[in-house]
Amino acid sequence: MTLSFWLTILTIAFLLALSAFFSGSETALTAASRAKIFQMANNGSRRALLVKTLISSRERLIGALLLGNNLVNILASSLATSVLITFFGDNGILFATVVMTLSVVIFSEVLPKTWAINRPEDFSLSVAPLIRPFVIILAPLTAIIQKLVHVLLRLIGVRSDTSRSGLTGAEEVRGTVELLHEEGEMIKRDRDMLGGLLDLSELEVSEIMVHRTAMLTLDCSAPTQQAINAVLESPYTRIPLYNDNPDEIIGVLHARDLLRALIKVNGDISKIDLASIAREPWFVPETTSAQSQLNAFLRRKSHFALVVDEYGEVQGIVTLEDILEEIVGEISDEHDTDLEGITRQSDGSWIVEGSLSIRDLNRALNLNLPDDEATTIAGLVIHEAKTIPEQGRQFTFHGLRIKILRKSLNRLTKLRITPVK
Ligand code: ATP
Repeated sequence: MTLSFWLTILTIAFLLALSAFFSGSETALTAASRAKIFQMANNGSRRALLVKTLISSRERLIGALLLGNNLVNILASSLATSVLITFFGDNGILFATVVMTLSVVIFSEVLPKTWAINRPEDFSLSVAPLIRPFVIILAPLTAIIQKLVHVLLRLIGVRSDTSRSGLTGAEEVRGTVELLHEEGEMIKRDRDMLGGLLDLSELEVSEIMVHRTAMLTLDCSAPTQQAINAVLESPYTRIPLYNDNPDEIIGVLHARDLLRALIKVNGDISKIDLASIAREPWFVPETTSAQSQLNAFLRRKSHFALVVDEYGEVQGIVTLEDILEEIVGEISDEHDTDLEGITRQSDGSWIVEGSLSIRDLNRALNLNLPDDEATTIAGLVIHEAKTIPEQGRQFTFHGLRIKILRKSLNRLTKLRITPVK
């Protein structure tokens, strides 16, 4: 065994170690969570900033790592073949192939990749300072290779748009939230809150408003005493006012304004003119997104709006609380009555109000009913049944058996929902 033999063996070992370094780095840098790295970089970590720069041009990074990896693998195999040929003649090729395949797979692929995949962020942070100069030096070569690959792909009809991940930022966050919840790292409540926040831009106020059929309004032409009693009995602070025609809202009566007016006239109800103390109504189109409505509420410092359709007809009420409830779930204050509308039965079924929104139902019962065709659960049943079903009818869809318990005119008011096993 000459000195040059041992030098070659040492070189092969060194090349295999380099190969392991490239393979591990490739796995770590592609698997590292962009969000975590971004956050670390924001917190001032210089290494995280390096990783962030590296993964921002992923194609260039992967190109350089693959180039380095293949270069050292092929060099190591060629050296091994030449050494073994001197000992075993032509059989050396076979021995070199077996020995190098096993060595490369075990030491330069599986081992470093398994290590890297278990701690992708830590691994990336450690190797980034070494990888960076390497990527810069090889940049011209990787650019040529990339160009060549793009041309070849185009020739066989594949479009290689690397900037396209197929998911929007919001969808990516939503996916991460769902994943964290499934893996047990995030409780349902936090998942719902983040999901609700992300949904705001896709929700229209018409989907979260209190429908006009459930709206408490007052006729200002009715006797004032009657109106005062209604205000006192109502759980609401702001009540839309109309004059004879309930479809024409002329103002919004605030309970506190009424109290102030009563004090001003020393309790003499006959001197109170409800229309004059009502505030100007704020009308918003039903297609406004919950996100823009939230911004508008915050900007105007007003928390109550009347939702109108394209013909200007009032369809319902939306308040700041309705939007916040999309994020945090049902909010109850001291005047709220129980709006839940869901009662669990001993047989595992639920009795629900038909007017309950699908979103609230999904949230409360952890279901996944679609809410793009209808807003309320009754609406969904009518959509699925393609007719207004009679009392007692039963349907099975989306993994649930739904029975119509009560119907009033054309409205399905009470339903029984049973999960189908
Ligand atoms: P505040 O909390 O400022 O006293 P509030 O309790 O009367 O006001 P909000 O907290 O703004 O009302 O809203 C609570 C819920 O009641 C929301 O779902 C809202 O749409 C609904 N709501 C408010 N006013 C009426 C009304 N006049 N008729 C029907 N629903 C209303």
